[in-house]
Amino acid sequence: QIQRALRSLSIPLERLHIMKGHMMQDMCKGLSRQTHAQAKVRMLPTYICSTPNGTEKGNFLVVELCQNQVRTLLVTLYGDGNMSPQMMYKIFNMPEGILHGEGEALFDFIAQCVSQFLSETVSPDTTGTGLHLPLGFVFPFTCQQTQLDKAELLSWSKGFNCSGVVGKDVVQLLQSAIDKQDKQDQQDKQEGEANGAGWLSSWKGRKSSQSTPGKPYHVEVVALMNDTVGTMMTCSMEGRPCEVAIVADKGSNCCFMAEAYLVETAEETSGRMCVNTEWGCFGDDGALNDVFTPYDVSVDEESSNPGEKRFEKMVGTLYLGEIVRHALIALTAEKAIFTGTNAAVLKEKGVFTTQHVLDIVNNEDGITEVQRILEVLGLQPSERDCGRVQQICRAVMGRAATLHATGLAAILSYMCQTRDLETLMVNVGVEGELYSGYPRFEEILLSVSRLLSPECMPTLLASRDGSGRGAAMVTAVALRLAAQRRAVNEVLAPLRLSRADLEKVQALMREEMDKGLCKETNPSASVRMLPTYVSHTPDGTERGDFLALDLGGTNFRVLVVRVTEDGITMASEIYVIPVAIMQGTGEELFDHIIDCIIDFQTKQKLVTQMLPLGFTFSFPCQQVGLDKALLLTWTKGFSASGCVGQDVVQLLRDAAKRKRHLGMEVVALVNDTVGTMMACGYDDPKCEIGLIVGTGTNACYMEEMRNVGTVEGDQGRMCINMEWGAFGDNGCLDHLFTHFDKVVDETTINPGKQRFEKLISGMYLGEIVRQILLVMTEKELLFQGKPCPKLQTKDIFKTKFLSTIELSNGLALRQIQAILNELELDASFEDSVLMREVCQTVSLRAAQLCAAGLAAVVEKMRENRGLDQLSVTVGVDGTLYKLHPCFSDNLQKTLKDLAPNCNVTFLLSEDGSGKGAALVAAVASRAANAME
Ligand code: ADP
Ligand code: MG
Repeated sequence: QIQRALRSLSIPLERLHIMKGHMMQDMCKGLSRQTHAQAKVRMLPTYICSTPNGTEKGNFLVVELCQNQVRTLLVTLYGDGNMSPQMMYKIFNMPEGILHGEGEALFDFIAQCVSQFLSETVSPDTTGTGLHLPLGFVFPFTCQQTQLDKAELLSWSKGFNCSGVVGKDVVQLLQSAIDKQDKQDQQDKQEGEANGAGWLSSWKGRKSSQSTPGKPYHVEVVALMNDTVGTMMTCSMEGRPCEVAIVADKGSNCCFMAEAYLVETAEETSGRMCVNTEWGCFGDDGALNDVFTPYDVSVDEESSNPGEKRFEKMVGTLYLGEIVRHALIALTAEKAIFTGTNAAVLKEKGVFTTQHVLDIVNNEDGITEVQRILEVLGLQPSERDCGRVQQICRAVMGRAATLHATGLAAILSYMCQTRDLETLMVNVGVEGELYSGYPRFEEILLSVSRLLSPECMPTLLASRDGSGRGAAMVTAVALRLAAQRRAVNEVLAPLRLSRADLEKVQALMREEMDKGLCKETNPSASVRMLPTYVSHTPDGTERGDFLALDLGGTNFRVLVVRVTEDGITMASEIYVIPVAIMQGTGEELFDHIIDCIIDFQTKQKLVTQMLPLGFTFSFPCQQVGLDKALLLTWTKGFSASGCVGQDVVQLLRDAAKRKRHLGMEVVALVNDTVGTMMACGYDDPKCEIGLIVGTGTNACYMEEMRNVGTVEGDQGRMCINMEWGAFGDNGCLDHLFTHFDKVVDETTINPGKQRFEKLISGMYLGEIVRQILLVMTEKELLFQGKPCPKLQTKDIFKTKFLSTIELSNGLALRQIQAILNELELDASFEDSVLMREVCQTVSLRAAQLCAAGLAAVVEKMRENRGLDQLSVTVGVDGTLYKLHPCFSDNLQKTLKDLAPNCNVTFLLSEDGSGKGAALVAAVASRAANAME
């Protein structure tokens, strides 16, 4: 019989694996919005989103409501890594009857404790001049928390049952009681001054007459938390965050830092939030039924809440003695122990306490102690009985530890999975009677959880000062975060654009467009509105083989583009332009280009034909015809002499003549925006806008000839290359530029130029972010204010980093870590969350500004055509637009908002600069043929 009893109390490893899986399922159920209400493991959000980082300082008051006691604690933190907090405390015993009386009486009593504690410990010198004393309230009952300082009591437990509290905000109740007590104290003080009586009033009178008149402090309840959370915070010390806590006490509970976006019951979505699992209720849906022993069933039946808190009843020290007692009753009945003696004393509930069990288990060697304990209880054990009782006690204790380990394994595996980690290293704070009283607890917790979750490596930390100090930490962290939030908002505010801001940008863009189109005002416009002499988009009837050149993007390429009935096929080759040629003479440059074309045509076996050629030339040009364009200035490292002011098409033709190359005829020179529009236009005839958001940004669109004052003629349309990157170069956007934009602009090779582009495009976004990070570090909002030498380097923060950082929903943390390593940044988790916010702010602004510009374009086109509703497609190219995870969504959303009467579709261009140039050539030939 004894073996059977012991077997029933030991749970096989496979069964523990299954239990761990169940626990993880229940955790997900508790976190999900849909299933939260039915979940047994409640997974309550705590609104604690950070662990201490050691910079916290100041005075913090803690009130802890415990069984029969109110504990008050004053903690002074010095911002020294929380190495040596100064603590003063006082414990008040609760008067009889308060546990079952009116709620108001309970809170009044707590407020009196606070008042008395402060009157004895706090003088204006210890609070400093602030006089404002934040309070953290440890309230170890199940609450539905909606903010750090807002928590509705769901149900009392642990023998409490005060009326009028369930369903109310406990923080509010405490604050009101404290304020009421405050008034009372003031009154007492005045009366005391009048007649010089009363210890409390005389103290206050004394203090206030020495320093400031009136009350020396005002207590504000800023945080409410469960004791488990307090333990976690207590164990977070000296820059090593503790992210899990287990309280193995009368009851049992666990909390941990979960990814905030997974806590669907709370609004918070970035960073992490501590979740109070309330795992004591695990098994209330029957998940543990097959491991219950008859002893567990009896314990449950005799409890005040049968069927509830089934897990807790197997592991809480409130129940362990009872489990042993029921096992002994059963074994006595089966005549396996205490044969021939009277064991009736075991029938009495509670005679066998957990302390008895601990005393028995902890006396491994001697039977005498076991015998002594049993005899004190009134039993007459034989030596064999003593041995068997000890075995049962060990089994019950061992099972409690094993079950804790199983719960811990579930938490750890869940954290490891949701953080997308291969291995999880984490600190686990532990406290409670079982942990401190049962020496094997730690060993079992570690070894069993390692068996169940081999991918996790927990380090156990003993909580030294219980939950009180942790509560002070929570309060301190809450205040630190609130102050930090205000400071962060202040830094980022200028980058956050309102709808009105965007409307203004749209209106200004429209104004500049009109100015640029009009011959008289064109010279003063920041948007140059260059005519391109492209007057038709493709209609799909284009046919033939064309050559294309792409110069001025990231690579120099030569292409052949075949336009047939079945679509377009292309072949291309990348050629290098040596720096010596980029910066040599114009003749050398264009000779080199012709050499590359000849090489390409030879390789492609196209030497015998004369092919029309379209030339994508992404440098600013004054175009005077489709095949006539004067170079305004070189950019991007080119400086070949003798070209500026010259017709680029002619330079290319001259070179072909010098090289006696007859296999090509230059028919068009186009900007890359135009190429993009044309390439997309081949697939979608509604495509009448081209947009580039890559290294730079620019746009083109089809304008009515009658509006183009800079070109003769009123018939039809012409594509206008806006060169909108320069929008604002005349000062019209000065109100938008932040400190960061100004610094970025000043460090470019063209300060004061391309101001709109510098807010939007890939070449600059990383730089803007870098400048913000530098300022935030300086303000000690990041990296604890430690300077980051690498971050001082220009262009070290790549725009592609924004894509990686913003993509992460807590899941791409490894990639973020790689970036942080590359930058040699020692970033905490919170630092990376803040970095993401910075990136999001910068890329959102870029997308919104781009949308405001586009809104001006589409609205103008709609007006031009006298339509109520315009349907139009934008052909887009550029790596930022294509690869950034939110840019295109933000752009489209904002555009819809700013131009509600335009139905705008976005079409990604596939190799627009090659294909587009060929299509311009094709359309030109088609139009020329039609003319003939
Ligand atoms: P170009 O404009 O010179 O023709 P691209 O369209 O390829 O070239 O754009 C290059 C720019 O795109 C780079 O300046 C870089 O800042 C940006 N970029 C590169 N990769 C990414 C990425 N993953 N996410 C966002 N931007 C990127
Ligand atoms: Mg490009």
